[in-house]
Amino acid sequence: MSNDISSDAGGQIKIHPAVDNGIPPAAPNFSGGTLTCRCATDPVTVELASQVAHNHVCGCTKCWKPAGALFSQVAVVGRDKVTVTANADKLAIADTSATIQRYACRDCGVHMYGRIENTAHPFHGLDFVHTELSRESGWAPPEFAAFVSSIIESGFPPSKMGAVRARLTELGLPPYDALSPALMDAISTHVAKARGVLQEA
Ligand SMILES: [Zn+2]
Ligand SMILES: [Zn+2]
Repeated sequence: MSNDISSDAGGQIKIHPAVDNGIPPAAPNFSGGTLTCRCATDPVTVELASQVAHNHVCGCTKCWKPAGALFSQVAVVGRDKVTVTANADKLAIADTSATIQRYACRDCGVHMYGRIENTAHPFHGLDFVHTELSRESGWAPPEFAAFVSSIIESGFPPSKMGAVRARLTELGLPPYDALSPALMDAISTHVAKARGVLQEA
């Protein structure tokens, strides 16, 4: 697999177009926008009726990422805030065996939203979305980098991981090899409560 996508001529590691040139802040009172797939005609559109949360870049091999990006950019939003507003018939689940059912446009391949149907899952009720598919500006910016080591599974050379983590840190995106500590704690809290070993924290 070619690795020349991951750095520019100067050797700068490229993470994702949304963060490589600086990360714009969220707009105050931002209330959502419309995601549009990459089809030139009859695009799928998805309306998000709220700001997103927990935006981050993700190195896993399941999240959709634009061509040339080393990481995806992905955030969550309440599933009740997500409405497909055009060409819903073009959507199909990318991998029906995955925990997150990622609804992809079958013509351009873009993932429009990911949904967890397992009501026992800690993140049930939250959909996963890629705000770069919106023309609006003001979305909550990425706050950390998740599943950083997983980029190796896409063919990225392990010897360059130090440079990737250094660049993420420079961008203000603390690199983690799972989710952030806050989200990992939330998952374990959910599990502990389900097992009855932890009362309301
Ligand atoms: Zn499309
Ligand atoms: Zn991911």
